[in-house]
Amino acid sequence: MSTGLKAGRASTPWRPVAIYAVVAGLWIILSDVLLAGLVRGLGDFVQVQVLKGWLYVAATSVLLYALIRKDTAALRESEARHRASLESMADALFLVDSHGRIVEANKAVLTLFGLEAAGMPTELQRFIELLDIRHPDGSPVAWDALPSQRALKGETVREQELLARRSNGALLHISATASPVVTDMGQVPELAVVVLRDLTELKRLERMRDEFLSTAAHELRTPITTIKGYAQLLDRWTPGGHEPREGKAFRILNRQSDRLTQLVQELLEVSRLQLGRLALRRQRFELGELVADVLERMQGVSSRHRLVLHQEGPVFVDADRERIDQVLVNLFDNAIKYSPEGGDIEVRVASREGTGVVSIRDPGMGIPKERQGQLFERFYRAHAGLESDRGGMGIGLHLSEQIVQRHGGRIWFESEPGKGSTFSFSLALVQQAAQEHEHEARV
Ligand code: ADP
Repeated sequence: MSTGLKAGRASTPWRPVAIYAVVAGLWIILSDVLLAGLVRGLGDFVQVQVLKGWLYVAATSVLLYALIRKDTAALRESEARHRASLESMADALFLVDSHGRIVEANKAVLTLFGLEAAGMPTELQRFIELLDIRHPDGSPVAWDALPSQRALKGETVREQELLARRSNGALLHISATASPVVTDMGQVPELAVVVLRDLTELKRLERMRDEFLSTAAHELRTPITTIKGYAQLLDRWTPGGHEPREGKAFRILNRQSDRLTQLVQELLEVSRLQLGRLALRRQRFELGELVADVLERMQGVSSRHRLVLHQEGPVFVDADRERIDQVLVNLFDNAIKYSPEGGDIEVRVASREGTGVVSIRDPGMGIPKERQGQLFERFYRAHAGLESDRGGMGIGLHLSEQIVQRHGGRIWFESEPGKGSTFSFSLALVQQAAQEHEHEARV
């Protein structure tokens, strides 16, 4: 299989052609002048001219042959280099043309899918069927959603995750990166280059890690609850109250075991989420009421902050109350934690374009601009290594994003370093309630 792609050598043929034309012209003129001087008779002159013509043809033929040979050798050498670099690539790579033909594929493709004996199909359709290519959730991939087809429309596809079946039946987790190959400026791509990476081992290790986290967090819950329980009992059993020092020790013990419980709970949740074991129990409720409830609980956490609620009207949603409670606790907790100077934390609950929106604004340290892009990534901590680092595991925001997204909602933030941040999320309004609310507003 060959695409006919050449490793273009940056040389122009005009220079040798011009030199050749000048030398040939000079040869014809000067040799004619010389012959006119040397050969006297017309018959002899014609014969010598014919001989000169033959010699000329022979010399140029030899020259032409040498040039063609040199060029073909250079072309072969460049093709061999191109093929060797393709074959030595660890990643599987293939090229697809706009007619759905696989025009080039390296050995790693065959090794990855166990196709060494059967060989590489030349049609993409056949290749897709043979490997039973699917989305990570197991649904089939539409033709236009294939990385190569997207690239042929000009898109650069980065690390699209897919499932594939190896020839021995094993399930592979792969990532595909595809780019359009445009040979002339401004033209539609004629080819797409697709690079595949095997993620199966990585996914297996990730799963092991999540299973471990889940088990560890589960196992840690019981001793922590016991420690907290006995600390409370000891607190109550002390006749005649505590010495101030003891009282302080019990308060610290209580607070720290609460913190530990929360951390373990977060770990458990994030591992459950990864393992697809986070189920939603939806019910209809008024979002503002829940926000007010969480706000009251969180107000006790810090005496340096004043939590202020603004709400225009009822906002009914159909959601998992416990999970949304968790999102709110995370956002309130961060708002307090990342504004160590204290101040007002303003919370707004409103309905906007068919959704209920909650926004929590803090007057804190904000998030450095260059670190804002990864904020919702698992275990990402934007202040890690900075003086303003407040500790933490970087789980809360990731968990909150996943919970909101599973409800079909959206979570976002705006942040100005040194001035504070506003974190918001939206959930679809319950249709009927939204209409009731609009009706009340009109009357
Ligand atoms: P944690 O707070 O436990 O580190 P989160 O997932 O809740 O984890 O937050 C991730 C990171 O986002 C934090 O480490 C912090 O750098 C940044 N962050 C979150 N909320 C705020 C906020 N309100 N103000 C400034 N930075 C924040």
